[in-house]
Amino acid sequence: MSNNCIFCKIVAGEIPARLVYQDQHLVVIEDINPQAPYHYLLVPRKHIRTTLDLTTADNDLIGHVFQTAGKIAHEMGFAEDGFRIVNNCNEAGGQTVWHIHFHLLGGRDLTWPPG
Ligand code: 5GP
Ligand code: ZN
Repeated sequence: MSNNCIFCKIVAGEIPARLVYQDQHLVVIEDINPQAPYHYLLVPRKHIRTTLDLTTADNDLIGHVFQTAGKIAHEMGFAEDGFRIVNNCNEAGGQTVWHIHFHLLGGRDLTWPPG
């Protein structure tokens, strides 16, 4: 838990969020400002500031994030049409919350390259 981290507070249940899935490593919530019909945030319970702060100890965690994203896409019914998993790192990468998270977007045609 990091002080003044909004995602730590969501993980701890101190700030409400629409919970889609949780286990001992992750919580998955609906994004408060969705950019697609399905827009979820996969948030590790562990406070890791950015992708650059990952260590080899987190390798299993990141694999688990991707597997869980695929399972959720299947369960919600948009896996076969296609989806996107996004991690924004640092300012120019579009990061605004400094607790690592992965966007899962689906339910529409996603353009490439992103803006
Ligand atoms: P980033 O820009 O860091 O990759 O993504 C942060 C995401 O968190 C944004 O898509 C934003 O809409 C979402 N977000 C920010 N604050 C909250 C919140 O309090 N609750 C939820 N559910 N999402 C949030
Ligand atoms: Zn945090």
